Amino acid sequence: MAETPTLSVTMLGAGQEVGRSCCVLQYRGKTIVCDAGVHPAYSGMASLPFIDELDWSTVDALLITHFHLDHAAALTYITEKTNFRDGKGKVYMTHPTKALHKFMMQDYVRMGSSTSDALFSPLDMTMSLASIIPISAHQLITVCPGISFTPYHAGHVLGACMFLIDIYGLKILYTGDYSREEDRHLVKAEIPPIRPDVLIVESTFGVHTLEAREEKELRFTNLVHSIIRRNGHVLLPTFALGRAQELLLILDEYWRKHPDLHNIPIYYASGLARKCMAVYQTYIHTMNNNIRSRFAKRDNPFVFKHISNVPQTRGWEKKIAEGPPCVVLASPGFMQVGPSRELFELWAPDSRNGVIITGYSIEGTPARDIMTEPEDFVTLKGATIPRKLSVDDISFSAHVDYSQNAEFIETVKAQHVVLVHGEQAAMSRLRAAMTSRYKERDEDVKIHTPRNLETLRLSFRGERVAKAIGTLADAHPKTGDILSGLLVAKDYSYTLLDPRDLRDFAGLTTCTVTQRQKIILGVGWNLVKWHLEGMYGSIDEGLDKDGVPTMRVMGVVDVKYTAEHELTLEWESSSSNDMIADSTLALITGIDKSPASVKLTTNSHSHSHAHAHGEQSHPHADPDGKSSERIRIARLAMFLEAHFGEIEFHMPDADDDDHELGEDEHGASLLVRLDEAEAQISLVNLTVSSANDVLKKRVEAVLDMALTTISSLSEAFVSGTSDVADDAALSKDHVDAGAESMEETEDSEAILEVIA
Ligand SMILES: [Zn+2]
Ligand SMILES: [Zn+2]
Repeated sequence: MAETPTLSVTMLGAGQEVGRSCCVLQYRGKTIVCDAGVHPAYSGMASLPFIDELDWSTVDALLITHFHLDHAAALTYITEKTNFRDGKGKVYMTHPTKALHKFMMQDYVRMGSSTSDALFSPLDMTMSLASIIPISAHQLITVCPGISFTPYHAGHVLGACMFLIDIYGLKILYTGDYSREEDRHLVKAEIPPIRPDVLIVESTFGVHTLEAREEKELRFTNLVHSIIRRNGHVLLPTFALGRAQELLLILDEYWRKHPDLHNIPIYYASGLARKCMAVYQTYIHTMNNNIRSRFAKRDNPFVFKHISNVPQTRGWEKKIAEGPPCVVLASPGFMQVGPSRELFELWAPDSRNGVIITGYSIEGTPARDIMTEPEDFVTLKGATIPRKLSVDDISFSAHVDYSQNAEFIETVKAQHVVLVHGEQAAMSRLRAAMTSRYKERDEDVKIHTPRNLETLRLSFRGERVAKAIGTLADAHPKTGDILSGLLVAKDYSYTLLDPRDLRDFAGLTTCTVTQRQKIILGVGWNLVKWHLEGMYGSIDEGLDKDGVPTMRVMGVVDVKYTAEHELTLEWESSSSNDMIADSTLALITGIDKSPASVKLTTNSHSHSHAHAHGEQSHPHADPDGKSSERIRIARLAMFLEAHFGEIEFHMPDADDDDHELGEDEHGASLLVRLDEAEAQISLVNLTVSSANDVLKKRVEAVLDMALTTISSLSEAFVSGTSDVADDAALSKDHVDAGAESMEETEDSEAILEVIA
């Protein structure tokens, strides 16, 4: 067998530091780069990652996790000033990230171009922006043969995501910056459903524990209030985007509750503010329930009642600084230059004033330096001034703290954990803490903390996973069993099959491929039946030729009760059958989570009673076939759900919460929401409408597939009538497709680990 391939991980930045995130992954001749940021403590070329160390024309994909400058601001330089464009590399980020990246970069270029060390021109930036491919969370994106990835929500800031990357079957999860605490506007980071081989995770806070959100907010608003009471000015250095929105939500609410503050202005000093608010309003549906429910009640939380923009005139800082007490959110957060720095210098000598550092301050920046509360301070002009204003640090930065990070790392269960985006000390403390946690439990997990340019080479003990198909999959192997067969390698994936099955696999004759999938399940057979009937209408139930209890779903997929806590799905492969099998599988594996299951389980007595009298009392069943339309819609929704996640059913004038099908379907529609876009499917004429063309096309394609499948089910399903050559080609495809879906189900016992 070929020698064990190695994954190389090279940090061009953010290796034992925070800033200029840039992580290079190389495996089997493919190269993926995650993030391309600058280091805020440096300027010009020195702020870039070590980009000369990589031949950028070899990069297949460059993935940006979020719009923060330390993750995205070097992108323009890479696409426009290196040989990146000589290759086939593509650049991806989510829709909101792309929208906000544009504003961030305009601001960045404006600030940079005033100095001599501008890295690129506004034109370069425009060119770079044009090449970004916007994507949505949960979308499976195939970059090229061998590479695919899926973004998952990361919390942190609007649009931030982590990437689950698959290179020839090797799975790497790169988190970027992430948070596991739901705040006022964002959802918390998700845990991807697939266990990766390698986890590359931020370690900003090391083993530090952050205070709970409520406590933190209370301390923050009390502090602001007390500075105002002592007739001082409050300076909140923040970035224009991201955490500033969270602070504005907190302050606006606090002001509303405290009429004594109504004559105290809160200024949001950012030229970007207005433009970016539009982006925030556009992506409200990607935020959490708090924001969405307020928005639904026409209470747009981002229309602030007590926040004013500063006058767009030169020298406003001085005017405000000399005026009555106020609160100012001013950028940049690190106070190197700009409004926040200017206000700080104006307010520093007066002890009534206060500065509150609300974000994570990167080493080497003024925001970090003043946290030691120095007696005096050197201004940008070189004068030394006393520092009398109070300095406080209440972190609203949305990064995980120690316990959240440790819990995430342990849940993800990767064999290798690579810590990035953390200062050396924080990182090594986290490594020590994690290592001892794993040692206690006697688990072999490797924790790495590579420095910049120190290439980490990870091998995976030569393990290969081969998917057994056909006759071999019939067997029920136990640990230690040895299976022999033909190992077929294709694009680094392996399939093990019985030589007698070769005919089928190679498609030399007309062939029927029988697919099998085993599922381990913690619920009873009756509950499975109840759910299947709820979804597919009546189910044929009986014994198969071996006497195994079997239910047949839509006349196509057999669900067999092969052992206690074990079901086996069996079906003949074809495009529509595979879809039904997929949906059956999704339904069965989702049973544990279904609220209806709980209801039924606690009420099993009345359930069996219902059975004794036939199907009439089944809440979803369609005993007399009168509402076949309802079943058709349910099936349609099911297919759409398999592709797009939750689907909403909408009735004109119906209560928003009521998703039950009404008597009259006229004007009803199904709503598909994909991250920041939505598409509506009219159930009257089955047309799709959406403002987003890409989503519209995807929904139309799936709808088409779904309709074909559903209509083919209503006719007697006849297979093997088409021409032999076609059939063979089709069947072979499905062997691959089937194998893939097996791989994704951890419980599937058809996956055998073959040690090379
Ligand atoms: Zn960030
Ligand atoms: Zn960061």
